[in-house]
Amino acid sequence: MDDLTYGKRNKRGDWAPTAALQFAPFWTRPWNGRQIFGWLVGYIWPWNAFHMATALAYWAWIVPPTEVMQTLAWGWALRLYAANAIGIFVLYGAVELFYYVRRKQGNRFKYNGKFPADQPSDVFWFQSQNIDNFLRTYLVSIPLWTVVEVLFLHAFATGLVPGVSFADHPVYLAALILLAPVIHEAHFFAIHRLIHWGPLYRWVHSVHHNSVNPSPWSSLSMHPVEAFLYHAVAFWHLLIPSNPIVALFQLHIAGYGALNGHIGFDRLELTDERALDSHAYAHYLHHKYFEVNYGGDGVLPLDRWFGSWHDGTAAGDALMQARYQRKKARLNAQG
Ligand SMILES: [Zn+2]
Ligand SMILES: [Zn+2]
Repeated sequence: MDDLTYGKRNKRGDWAPTAALQFAPFWTRPWNGRQIFGWLVGYIWPWNAFHMATALAYWAWIVPPTEVMQTLAWGWALRLYAANAIGIFVLYGAVELFYYVRRKQGNRFKYNGKFPADQPSDVFWFQSQNIDNFLRTYLVSIPLWTVVEVLFLHAFATGLVPGVSFADHPVYLAALILLAPVIHEAHFFAIHRLIHWGPLYRWVHSVHHNSVNPSPWSSLSMHPVEAFLYHAVAFWHLLIPSNPIVALFQLHIAGYGALNGHIGFDRLELTDERALDSHAYAHYLHHKYFEVNYGGDGVLPLDRWFGSWHDGTAAGDALMQARYQRKKARLNAQG
């Protein structure tokens, strides 16, 4: 595919899409039925459908029977860790293998023209972004993801939190499933904004931001505090009436879905004519500029409400520069 039909490449080899990033179309009046329908299809397919499929697969084959989960024990916790570790290895590893190791589409649609493997840096363990990110994923983030998972499954299994069944409340649970990505976005925005506060940024979140040019392994490369808060989004299902399968879906949107912001390519070419939209640009801009796009994919216009939106265009850039100048003036006035 010719990526220059969809965007432009600068002298450094960085590619950027021409089209501005958009929020979900129901935030713009007047409503356009066709646009909303198209957005809804993209909302469900393929990513959220994939997260639902993995949640159901876990429920069918990996999550142990209720009686087992009534007791906290290493056996079933390690089984869940193994499933998460293998699942992430397959999903993230596949994108890494085809697009970063074999580089099957070169740097077509790639926001940053360079590949992390070609840029050793002292900020990383062993000077390698890939090794550093990979180890943090397996030693820190997946264990804490599993801790969250074990705790909510245990809470449902013991009846500490009464679950709502699909047989009794199918419409309510279907609505909750549709809302789960919205919960994710609000939760992520809140904790992410929090850990961008100076002292917390330096202590916690700077670990994630070491990867200025993220690849899939960067997705879950986090400090333990961030890794726990991030996956704790599933605990909302202990506070609102819910069901363990829906909580698992919520957890998978976080764990497996972290990939999306860190794919590094705007589209993954599947055939000569077909490509998969990565939904990665908003979060890529966050890694590039730090102080924009704290939220996710624009389901909620949180960044617009809080004045930190960058839509990827020259106008978005001018807004960001103006904010930056105002902030500098404020800091100078104080100091
Ligand atoms: Zn950040
Ligand atoms: Zn990130």
